[in-house]
Amino acid sequence: SSIIKLSNATKKYNNGTTALRNVSVDIEAGEFAYVVGPSGAGKSTFIRLLYREVKLDKGQGVVAGYNLEKIKKRDVPMLRRSIGVVFQDYKLLQNKTVYENIAYAMEVIGKRPREIKKRVMEVLDLVGLKHKVRSFPNELSGGEQQRVAIARSIANAPKVLIADEPTGNLDPENSWEIMNLLEKINIQGTTILMATHNSQIVNTLRHRVIAIENGRIVRDQIEGEYGYDD
Ligand code: ADP
Ligand code: ADP
Repeated sequence: SSIIKLSNATKKYNNGTTALRNVSVDIEAGEFAYVVGPSGAGKSTFIRLLYREVKLDKGQGVVAGYNLEKIKKRDVPMLRRSIGVVFQDYKLLQNKTVYENIAYAMEVIGKRPREIKKRVMEVLDLVGLKHKVRSFPNELSGGEQQRVAIARSIANAPKVLIADEPTGNLDPENSWEIMNLLEKINIQGTTILMATHNSQIVNTLRHRVIAIENGRIVRDQIEGEYGYDD
């Protein structure tokens, strides 16, 4: 069944830029899809629509059962609980330890301390960083920070994990390590949507490829290729 479905989704920013035009896409639960395309094509807008950081102007969207055009402001946090998000620049809280960064994501949704403790160690184990539980972000390498960000993103067991250029600041070795993790999380059942400029990864670790140019989907291929020269 579909977990992300957009029909003729259009987004126009206040300054008049139409960042997405009539985008229709259907992603099944459990899929792994890359979102590719030139800078300024609309990839981030597409991703931000899904967790309702930007609003649709026209068209329809359903993500994890939530209707993007009808969702009430007070229900947006519920939508976001079913979506984990990972960014190029990690976005860890610098004044909190690894433990606290992950625990915080669970505290804000009211999980009990005992459950939080267990789950934090579980996700840190998954990303291979149990030994860094007391470290602060600035004591970790970039690859390690991204692994913590991934641990945090899945702490609440989201149905969908959205990654916006997760390997953008990492060297090839660390990038592959991140991909191994995303692959593992996908195999455990989480749907993954990843915007990327990494042609090596897209062409090697084959998955669905959704290409966006000028706000439109210009290609949507099963086990597709990157398709750009950059
Ligand atoms: P990509 O992620 O593919 O680089 P974006 O979704 O960031 O593309 O941008 C798509 C288009 O929308 C670009 O023309 C960009 O300049 C514009 N844009 C993005 N965010 C905003 C914003 N907050 N206000 C106005 N225009 C924006
Ligand atoms: P990478 O090869 O992934 O870039 P680094 O060479 O930056 O990694 O770091 C190697 C190891 O040193 C990592 O385990 C990291 O946790 C540790 N480390 C890096 N920077 C610091 C720091 N400022 N304080 C403490 N430990 C650090």
